[in-house]
Amino acid sequence: MTDCIALVVAAGRGNRFGQGVPKQYRPLSGQPLLRRSVAPLLAHPLIDGVRVIFHPDDADAYRVAVGDLPLLSPVPGAATRQGSALCGLESLAQAPPRNVLIHDAARPLVSAALLDRVLAALDRREGAIPALPVVDTLKRGSDGAAPLIVGTQDRAGLWRAQTPQGFRYAALLAAHRAAAGQDLTDDAAVAEAAGLSVELVPGEEDNLKVTTEDDVFRAERILAGGRETRTATGFDVHRFCPGDQVMLCGVSVPHDHALLGHSDADVGLHALTDALLGAIGEGDIGSHFPPSDPRWRGAPSELFLRHAAALIAAAGGRVVNVDVTLICERPKVGAHRAGMRARIAELLNLSVARVSVKATTTEELGFTGRREGIAAQAAASVEMPSADQDQSPVVSASIQAR
Ligand code: MG
Repeated sequence: MTDCIALVVAAGRGNRFGQGVPKQYRPLSGQPLLRRSVAPLLAHPLIDGVRVIFHPDDADAYRVAVGDLPLLSPVPGAATRQGSALCGLESLAQAPPRNVLIHDAARPLVSAALLDRVLAALDRREGAIPALPVVDTLKRGSDGAAPLIVGTQDRAGLWRAQTPQGFRYAALLAAHRAAAGQDLTDDAAVAEAAGLSVELVPGEEDNLKVTTEDDVFRAERILAGGRETRTATGFDVHRFCPGDQVMLCGVSVPHDHALLGHSDADVGLHALTDALLGAIGEGDIGSHFPPSDPRWRGAPSELFLRHAAALIAAAGGRVVNVDVTLICERPKVGAHRAGMRARIAELLNLSVARVSVKATTTEELGFTGRREGIAAQAAASVEMPSADQDQSPVVSASIQAR
């Protein structure tokens, strides 16, 4: 028997952000909210499978958000949260797990420690939910725009319920079937109606439910605490051939030769593109733009750089700074350096202060010393969501490659 399956309720139509897409699919620090909400469940060693209960109208958004993750196939929900939870529970009836967790798609910051507490309590109870004691004094207000206090509620013994809520599967399924058609707002209320014993375990303030735009900012501030800076390098060489100009760092420089290459042979931008790809573990320029592909014949290398920058942005990352060194005897780079920095800054949407272009010779030694070609090396720093907490496709690809 499977020990524990997690169900994530994401069928709601609620769109309190006015962005035309249900809030569970809106981005949070560069990743869909739903993706962030399922990630800690997928990563927990005591959870055997994760299934999303979705709305069939959201099939495309679902695929984009989590289609690449190893989730159980999603099942359609119902008009109410309670109804959707029941759909999820019924979908497991053929191969019932011992325990089930039910989680809100709008809670993206659940910790492994919180999951541990809920699962540990399930060893002794029919149910367990994370909750926090109410510490603010509770006032009852009158109706209207400027309400008046009409009473004070004793807060003793009051708790704020969170998710994921854990239950013995068979007991919760029976409770949900018995309560079908009502509109209870959490599964603990369904369990309570059936007389199950449900323990309150410590919740976490950070395990917030993203409901308003303010919640998005708060969640993104918390996520920012889990960011890291990655550094990577790139290197490239192109040989000279007959011609009268070379492309270097996006700038055309007059010279008595050209550089030979499948694209425009911009050795500086190639090294820089490889550094950016390296920072996110995304292979190299050749794997994204194979020289065998005729589409890239004579292509401006700016295209490659923009592609790497787009991959970084899609992974929730941000380029911090870049540094390119051109290695050649000729042409002299000095007069073009400012233009190169400005062009790279423009391509990466960075301030010029974050872009460095340097040049050196090799004292007439080696192939660059013999003026057979130009070499370039580059370094880049990229600020990214921390790999420990982040399950983006980019990050998982780099983990697999190790
Ligand atoms: Mg190259």
